[in-house]
Amino acid sequence: MTIKPLIILPDPVLRQVSKPIERVDADLQRLTDDMLETMYDAPGIGLAAIQVGVPRRMLVIDLSKEGEEKQPLVFINPEIVSSSDDRSVYEEGCLSIPDYYAEVERPAQVTVKYLDREGKEQSVVADGLLATCLQHEIDHLNGVLFIDHISRLKREMVIKKFTKASKSKAL
Ligand SMILES: [Zn+2]
Repeated sequence: MTIKPLIILPDPVLRQVSKPIERVDADLQRLTDDMLETMYDAPGIGLAAIQVGVPRRMLVIDLSKEGEEKQPLVFINPEIVSSSDDRSVYEEGCLSIPDYYAEVERPAQVTVKYLDREGKEQSVVADGLLATCLQHEIDHLNGVLFIDHISRLKREMVIKKFTKASKSKAL
């Protein structure tokens, strides 16, 4: 397994819309393993393929706590088929926007259809942190970041800060 470099704001790659996966094969399974390894190393609780520069509709999540047994979840071609009117607020962060956190309001419950690591059709009714995490990661597949859900003023400040940081690193 390989730890892959993360794509960081303001890299335009993060704004790409990822394409559906046509075949679940050994190459794809290797990519899911690399993504999990990269996520655990960061550490984070969710990672979309585009965050390691692969514009394909796939994401991994693990909500297990430190010291607990790992619970890796793989979602291929995930699709939200319904969302609740109830909403919940979580403080979100993102491996592509390091050390920035903000509260985001989203539907509290979502039903998601997807293929698992074996390519089998599955569906999950998610609530709590899993619901938020799935929506955050599926947003990535559509080129959307969690900062798109906060105020424009706050978003512009974050983008400015990261743009400045990326420029100074290039020198
Ligand atoms: Zn993210």
